[in-house]
Amino acid sequence: MVWDCLVIGGGATGLGTALEAASRGFKVLLVEKHDFAKGTSSRATKLVHGGVRYLEQGNIHLVREALHERGLLLRNASHLAHPLQFVIPAYHYWHIPFYGAGLKVYDALAGKLSLGKSLMLSRSRTVELLPNVETKGLKGGILYLDGQFDDARLAVSILRTFVDQGGQAANYFEVVGLTKEGEKVNGAVLRDGETGAEHQVRAKVVINATGIFSDTIRLFDDPHLAKIITVAQGSHLVLPSKFLRSKSALMVPKTSDGRVLFAIPWHDRLLVGTTDFGVPQPIDEPRIQPHEVEFILSEAAKYFAEDPTEADVLACYSGLRPLVKHGSGTSTAKLSRSHTVIVSPSGLVTITGGKWTTYRHMGEDCINHAEEVVGVEHRPSRTAELPLHGNTQEAAIFKAPEHLAVYGSDRPEIEKRASQNPGFAEPLDPALPYLTAEADWAIENEMARTVEDILSRRTRALLLNARAASQAAPRVAQLLADRLGRDKSWIQAQVEEFQALAKNYIL
Ligand SMILES: Cc1cc2nc3c(=O)[nH]c(=O)nc-3n(C[C@H](O)[C@H](O)[C@H](O)COP(=O)(O)OP(=O)(O)OC[C@H]3O[C@@H](n4cnc5c(N)ncnc54)[C@H](O)[C@@H]3O)c2cc1C
Repeated sequence: MVWDCLVIGGGATGLGTALEAASRGFKVLLVEKHDFAKGTSSRATKLVHGGVRYLEQGNIHLVREALHERGLLLRNASHLAHPLQFVIPAYHYWHIPFYGAGLKVYDALAGKLSLGKSLMLSRSRTVELLPNVETKGLKGGILYLDGQFDDARLAVSILRTFVDQGGQAANYFEVVGLTKEGEKVNGAVLRDGETGAEHQVRAKVVINATGIFSDTIRLFDDPHLAKIITVAQGSHLVLPSKFLRSKSALMVPKTSDGRVLFAIPWHDRLLVGTTDFGVPQPIDEPRIQPHEVEFILSEAAKYFAEDPTEADVLACYSGLRPLVKHGSGTSTAKLSRSHTVIVSPSGLVTITGGKWTTYRHMGEDCINHAEEVVGVEHRPSRTAELPLHGNTQEAAIFKAPEHLAVYGSDRPEIEKRASQNPGFAEPLDPALPYLTAEADWAIENEMARTVEDILSRRTRALLLNARAASQAAPRVAQLLADRLGRDKSWIQAQVEEFQALAKNYIL
């Protein structure tokens, strides 16, 4: 069989690209070497946003594109993305009109898909919205609206929409080589991560959507190519929500070293981040560095009434941004400001850069290029109007969704499972909100294969409370073994592997 399109990489970019192709009626295979969203795409700040800082840099085009995509995502995945109020506390009077004016431009760029107007706030209103903000020297604030989402759950929703559209996806299948007919790429060699077996697949076009690993696949195509990816790490600390005690997020437009810092309520916790520094190599499991912990805690302490310490941290996580070096000398490079699509002389299409918020537009652009490589007539994109799996208008009313809301239209099925099976209504761990029924659901319907898949990405246990997630591992391993037919040694290996991993998420 020859696929129309093989997509390598099951993060935001690969999933968005695969869905774009399948929804245009192409036969698509998506392969991911670990689990969907195991890479950068489960480690974001979880904002679906235009990016206020790009506005400061004068990148109007990127902000407008992202704000448009924000509007589409809030409409098409209302169970996973919702508007969120952000408050910038101001400690100088001039900050209020300065940031206030910038945010008026931000509002205007959203056009018809605006979430509401930004406002300048008095000191007392700022404290009302952020009860635990540092009040010493506080002059007032600015309020604006942006979007928030659950990154790994959105990946699952896109995956399921892709499958609903006739696509085929496989996690734990790694591309270990490309095949060619003459000079043209015509497929890939896949290694099954569970059995070690290798398979060849053929496709009319191969798309490289492997994020920080994009150069590895490009070098399979041509070992003499110059590398284009630079890797930058960003980390977050997860704190109890008491540090902000607010439904609004706190935004710091300029930290001591000139970056943006967010403190965001998420699943009844507070995410604080992020950092940004170059690392030499792409790796699967980046670890937070002591200087990042120190930076985030000391910056947060300036804005919270109570200073957080390392002992307060429930979990931490790090992700690696795929940044594209421009001017790499690749003759067929087509660069845009938000993402990059490169078509190699052999027809390999690489798509990288960009951000979660713009994943749909990236997919659309990539498949337009892929159509040219294959030489088929252009088929118009349908994804702007395509609701994602689980989308329900009912869910849109949740402002701060409690955890089952992320399932959208699947939620009644999970509740039924919880009520009809003994033990399934129990949480995976007393300190976690997640029900045993959710793990069972994920194995049957969401392609979960390992303890990590369930505790890190189908539920977000590892990010909400890494110690509790570690304690839940044996129970989850047993559920997987029962469903997938695994033995005791598999259970033991899974528990040990997950508990070793969870140590990276604990300070
Ligand atoms: C700290 C941080 C915060 C961020 N916050 C935001 C935010 O708030 N909002 C926003 O819009 N964006 C945000 N981003 C950006 C966003 O997360 C990324 O742009 C996006 O997730 C990149 O997705 P990707 O699919 O390109 O890469 P990845 O998610 O890394 O996916 C690539 C996949 O390819 C797989 N792969 C690699 N090699 C192979 C192979 N040989 N065979 C098969 N599979 C392979 C990997 O396992 C991986 O799953 C943030 C990024 C970081 C680092």
